[in-house]
Amino acid sequence: KFRVRYAPSPTGHLHIGGARTALFNYLIARKEGGQFVIRFEDTDQTRHVETGVDSQLNGLKWLGIEWDESVDVGGPYGPYRQTERLDLYRPFIDRLLQEGNAYYCYCTEAELEEERAKQEAAGQMPMYSGKCRHLTPEQAEAYKAEGRKPSIRFRVPENRTIAFEDRIRERVEFDTNGIGDFIIVRPDGIPTYNFAVILDDHLMDITLVIRGEEHLTNTPRQIMMYEALGLPVPEFAHLALILNQDRKKMSKRDESIIQFIEQYRDLGYLPEAVMNFIALLGWSPKGEEEIFTREELIAGFDLDRLSKSPAVFDMDKLNWMSNVYIKKADTERIAELALPHLQKAGRLPQELTDEQRQWAHSLIGLYQEQLRYAAEIVDLSELFFREEVSYDEEAKAMLAEEHAPVVLHSFLTQVEQASEFDVDALKAMLKAVQTETGYKGKQLFMTVRVALTGQMHGPDLNRTLYLLGKEKVIQRVKKLL
Ligand code: GLU
Repeated sequence: KFRVRYAPSPTGHLHIGGARTALFNYLIARKEGGQFVIRFEDTDQTRHVETGVDSQLNGLKWLGIEWDESVDVGGPYGPYRQTERLDLYRPFIDRLLQEGNAYYCYCTEAELEEERAKQEAAGQMPMYSGKCRHLTPEQAEAYKAEGRKPSIRFRVPENRTIAFEDRIRERVEFDTNGIGDFIIVRPDGIPTYNFAVILDDHLMDITLVIRGEEHLTNTPRQIMMYEALGLPVPEFAHLALILNQDRKKMSKRDESIIQFIEQYRDLGYLPEAVMNFIALLGWSPKGEEEIFTREELIAGFDLDRLSKSPAVFDMDKLNWMSNVYIKKADTERIAELALPHLQKAGRLPQELTDEQRQWAHSLIGLYQEQLRYAAEIVDLSELFFREEVSYDEEAKAMLAEEHAPVVLHSFLTQVEQASEFDVDALKAMLKAVQTETGYKGKQLFMTVRVALTGQMHGPDLNRTLYLLGKEKVIQRVKKLL
């Protein structure tokens, strides 16, 4: 049996780190022929966001990740939302209490705060003192009479080393004396993450837990609870951090990288490119190849090739990779993706005639080689929508050269007399200009390009002129002359 899970807390949008955890779980599940479960850890209601579940699932779906069991598709181990599983936890709580592995704690927030402050002032690591470990029934009654509501704490065994073999980090050890008795059930009766997670992983028959390194210090706590309950401990694989471009820990406010999957979708990245990129955040494939389809990722994925050291998020690499995918994609697909961006920017009306639509598709096709994400079309194609061409110093200098007016006059005459104005016709016209003026190469083509676009570089000239249209071409050349 091989069962893995992604267990997000529905606190907001799908983050790149969460997406990576989900992806690695998915890839290994498919590779091993096991099941991939998505479970929502929503017991911390203060961090809960109403749309959290949907934005997680929609983001994963967009990326092309599939799951076998979750809130939407159901499954034999449901429900898949912790707040709907509270009854399932009760017998385990009772057992821990009965066997003395857990106890009621009546300390108030203020008392705990005071304790922490004292410890800090004394230069100690703040840790619950175990004050309520040995309350007599009378003391407990007295607290209750005061109206205090108890939480339940796990009794951490003293003088022990908790060790486990992490699939990525190898042997990891923790001394239990550095871990205070921690809360497993809050005063409102709802279990905390650390407790609910082990019960669910157990009840859902999870065999391997793949999650971010930020959970590493939770793992000894979880192992102690498995042991206290006599439950088998799953295997663990803790994924190294993802750092930002400055090799610092990513913060949600960091704008040097795009962090949420929804943003990639909205900017018009291709999901398979984003999936490919995320797969390389911590996994190193054999060999030099970096471009992989989903099937290739599944076939090549290997826990033994996951890195212990942090992955660095390289936005340039992502954009390079994204461009590789866009270049290979069907032009129609890219056009459909990019068109709404032109419309949103007001470049094209919402309702398009067939002719306008066709023109827009050709325009987007013209820039397909250059696009890194669809929204870039708006800036790239700006020169098609301006009333006036703007010429920078370099362009002005080019147009001030003596061949420029000669070339442009000849070209204008050709265009005005032309009965056809398509790519082939334009090719013939430029050829005729060459014959007539004797100018060729850069002096011919660059002059025409700069005159019409204001830019020294750009996509295919004939197609550019064709898409600008006869009228605009004539008007722009006339204005210059
Ligand atoms: N709910 C936890 C989180 O979102 C999951 C931790 C785990 O996978 O055990 O970080």
